[in-house]
Amino acid sequence: MLHRRSDRAAATVRRRGAATLGRRSRCLPRLARRGLASRWAGARRGCRPAANAELRRRSTEELTALDFDGYALGGLGLGEPKTQLLDMLERSDALLPKDRPRYLMGMGYLADVLEAVERGVDLFDCVLPTRNARTGSLFTSGGTVVIKNRKYARDERPLDEACGCYTCRNFSRAYLRHLYERNEITAAVLNTIHNLHFYLDFFRKIRQSIESNSLKDLKRNILKSTKDKDNASSRFNDVA
Ligand SMILES: [Zn+2]
Repeated sequence: MLHRRSDRAAATVRRRGAATLGRRSRCLPRLARRGLASRWAGARRGCRPAANAELRRRSTEELTALDFDGYALGGLGLGEPKTQLLDMLERSDALLPKDRPRYLMGMGYLADVLEAVERGVDLFDCVLPTRNARTGSLFTSGGTVVIKNRKYARDERPLDEACGCYTCRNFSRAYLRHLYERNEITAAVLNTIHNLHFYLDFFRKIRQSIESNSLKDLKRNILKSTKDKDNASSRFNDVA
């Protein structure tokens, strides 16, 4: 299946290199040359991976034969067991060309991103940071902060003391809760600024850890520090 969705990711790569991970050297020059004209293919046939692994393999082989600039992996993260998701990622990693970026569509939980990066995924997109910001669920280095909770009503600390974003530098948890409780649009704006900053920082750390060959250490530290499951863990709870 051809699609244009990844053009945005390619444009981001061209402008900032922000979305590339483990294969910056292989992704960036090619995408920079092609820019918005990059042609991507999505190996997503078979939404039920266990039943359609063979179809997915055939789809991937047929698409790689057409020499696309990058390959998207879709039809995953739809409720299948995590073991099957990881198996599909590993199979795809083996089949896709090593010199082309891989884009995993629609998955953004920290644990899922880390697992996918370990299995060769370079690009992601997900509504999680912005959607959760609008509903007051904020990612921090210590776990998720649900800003509407009463315990933050007089909490004068910044949302995340380890964060350097505009929101954390200028406003307290108590003020953010006040804005949220009053249904002020500023709450969505400030919360979104923070969550996007958190994710950009998260991906920056991943890139640095790949370059220093310390991805496993980063993964262990992030999953340990973000203890509560809403933040660190994936939607799949069948595998620890
Ligand atoms: Zn912040």
